[in-house]
Formats: sequence, C-alpha cells, structure tokens
Amino acid sequence: MRKQPMQCCIYNLKKDDESEMNEFFADLHIHIGRTYTGKPVKITASRNLTLTNILKAAKYPKGLDIVGVIDCQSPEVIEELEQLILSGKLLEMQEGGFRYEDEVTLIPGSEIEVYDEHCHGPIHVLVFFPDLVSLKTFSIWLKERVTNIQLSTQRIYEDAVVLQEKAKALGGLFIPAHIFTPFKSLYGKGVEKSLTEILNPTLIDAVELGLSSDTEMADQISELHSYTFLTNSDAHSLPKIAREYQKFFLEAPTFAAIEKALKNEGSNKILSNYGLNPRLGKYHQTTCSECSTPMQSSTCPNCGSSKITLGVSERINQLADALEKPMRPKYVHQVPLEFIPGLGPKTMQYLLDHFGTEMDILHRVKAQNLKEVIKPQLADLIIAAREGKLAISAGGGGKYGRIKK
Ligand SMILES: [Zn+2]
Ligand SMILES: [Zn+2]
Repeated sequence: MRKQPMQCCIYNLKKDDESEMNEFFADLHIHIGRTYTGKPVKITASRNLTLTNILKAAKYPKGLDIVGVIDCQSPEVIEELEQLILSGKLLEMQEGGFRYEDEVTLIPGSEIEVYDEHCHGPIHVLVFFPDLVSLKTFSIWLKERVTNIQLSTQRIYEDAVVLQEKAKALGGLFIPAHIFTPFKSLYGKGVEKSLTEILNPTLIDAVELGLSSDTEMADQISELHSYTFLTNSDAHSLPKIAREYQKFFLEAPTFAAIEKALKNEGSNKILSNYGLNPRLGKYHQTTCSECSTPMQSSTCPNCGSSKITLGVSERINQLADALEKPMRPKYVHQVPLEFIPGLGPKTMQYLLDHFGTEMDILHRVKAQNLKEVIKPQLADLIIAAREGKLAISAGGGGKYGRIKK
C-alpha cells in the first residue's frame, strides 16, 4: 500500500529564497558497502556504507536533497528499506521515490555488468525504480540471471536490450554508467564506435559521464546529443558522496519529476552539473599500465612497456564527429572540499558547525562570511574551488590529478 506524498510546503520550508524553492541537489550513483546485518554488498566499499548511513550522510553533512542508491536489488537492502518504512523514517511517495525524514529523497537503483555477444568487453549500466513493488520484481527477475544477487554490479547473463526492456516495463530508468572510463564502460575500451552496437537507443533515459569527462568533451560525440548528461559520484565510501552531483529544477523531489527532467518535460530539468575538472579524474590521460608514466607513443618512454591505459581525453578524440554542440546545462568544474590543501577534518567540522552542510559551504555561504571564520587564504581556496579556478595537474592510469599549491 502506498502512503500519501508529503506536501511541498514541508520540504521547502527551510529554503529562504523563492527562486530556490524547486532546486534540488542530487547524486544518483552511490554504492552500498554492507547490509544492516553486516553482509558485504560492494565488497571493496566501506563497511559503514549502509543504506541508513547513506541517507543520514546525505542529509548531514552533505546537504543533498536526492540520492540514487545503487545495489538496492540486494535482498537484505530491500529488507532494510522495508524496516525504514515500518519505522516511519521512510515514506513511499505516490509520484515515485522515497522520502527520508522529510528531507532526502531516495531513488533505489542497481548497477549491472553487461557482457553479451554484441559487447567487446563488459560495460556497466544503471537502472532505477520508482517503488518497492517494481524494485522487488526486478530483484527476483535479476536473481535468475546473475551469480549472486546480494552483491553489487554482478554480470547479467542476458542481452543488454532485454535488460533495457525489463527496466522500462517496470517503469524504471535505464542509464549507461561512467561511459568513458577505460574499464567496463560503453566507449571506454576503445572498440565500440556507437552505443547502438549494444543498446536500443530509444530505451536510454540519460547517460552518466564519469569522473574523467565533462559536457564539453562528451558533446564531441554526436550520438550523445539527444541524451541528458548526469554527473554522479560512484561513491564507495561516505566521504566520497557528492564529489560529483547535479542541481535539478523539479516540480517536486519525486521519481516522476526526475524522469521528466531527464526528458526536459514541463519546467523539470537539470540546471547545472557539478563535477571534477576532467584533468583531476583518474583516467584522464593515457598512461603506461606498468609505471603510470603519461605517454603519447606506443611504448613507454620510462620503462619500455607497451601496455597502455587509454586516457579518456584520447578516447573521446578518436570518437569525435560532432560539427556543432547542443545547448546544455552549465558544467561547473568544482573541486571537492576534501581535495583542498589545508582543509583538514577539523576545519571541515568547524565550517559545518558554522554553516550547516557541504552544499551550504559550496553554494550558499557568502565569501565574506567564510573569511570571518577561517583564514582568508583558505577561504580564497574554497571560493576558487567552487568556481573551478584552482590549478591542477592531470590524472591518468588510475591516479587522481592533484591540486597545484
Ligand atoms: Zn561501474
Ligand atoms: Zn558504480
């Protein structure tokens, strides 16, 4: 049985500015490390990354309004979700999605590895569901097609298109994940030239860019022009939540409104994407797989190895075919607060105590107010970071780029 959705006035009360009334910060790719009984879901993720802890962290310290939690197909995660509903902390909304303590919307999802006869290597895709019934139905369907339904990002023994059709039949969303990363992505391996080789292009609701690319880079590929771009964290730990996110304009923070936003229906839309400068991403430039030296040639100038990890920038150059670029939401190259030199945990807590949440620090606090509570030099770095003006050196081969001090 579905409960009544909450009225808009409840979750909008804390917003002081009329124009902000319908703006929502969302990170739609957050993994689960463990179930509430301590069983592993994403084995490499943090032990404290449970569904409940994600919802708590989204509210504070992150200050997110909407989270897409991946790995919700795991039966014990569904149990935890049901317990949260029973305890009254989580409400299933009529328009889809769940509301946690009147403040955060949960959109349950799952990441799946596809490797059918059309793929040249495994690729990752995301599916999201509006309610408990569709999530449970999907979990039962998937259980028959993977080795272990409890674990994250399992390989499905099924065609990608069949998965797409199933997700859509259940009222879900289908989104190729981190589409350029060198491993396990649609374009990343350097073989596929078009997503139509693997997927039904009409059953794709959006594409996720991933940490090493941005709107400008991805729009060099013309077949992506018709899709909305998402920027998500792919967090494997609580602190990494919201290292990439987007700001939506929605009639309400529900599944239905998010779906409309991906199609630009009515006034629903993405207002801006916030992500790492692609140069800070782990796979931006082509590097030697053996010694991580950046390289342009076919053999490493440092160790002589010919094994390379193709950088995202080079991969996109190979695929680039677009003559013009579509209108897009603004992409802000935002450096996450944890990357800022001199901003340790103590100072971070001090800022949170003063200003509320990370989203408040990144978007709402005035520069002058920052300078009143921390050293002006550090305040200047934070301001530069949120405007994308911090200098960085490029990452590659699995290593993040660095802030130049
Ligand atoms: Zn993935
Ligand atoms: Zn993931």
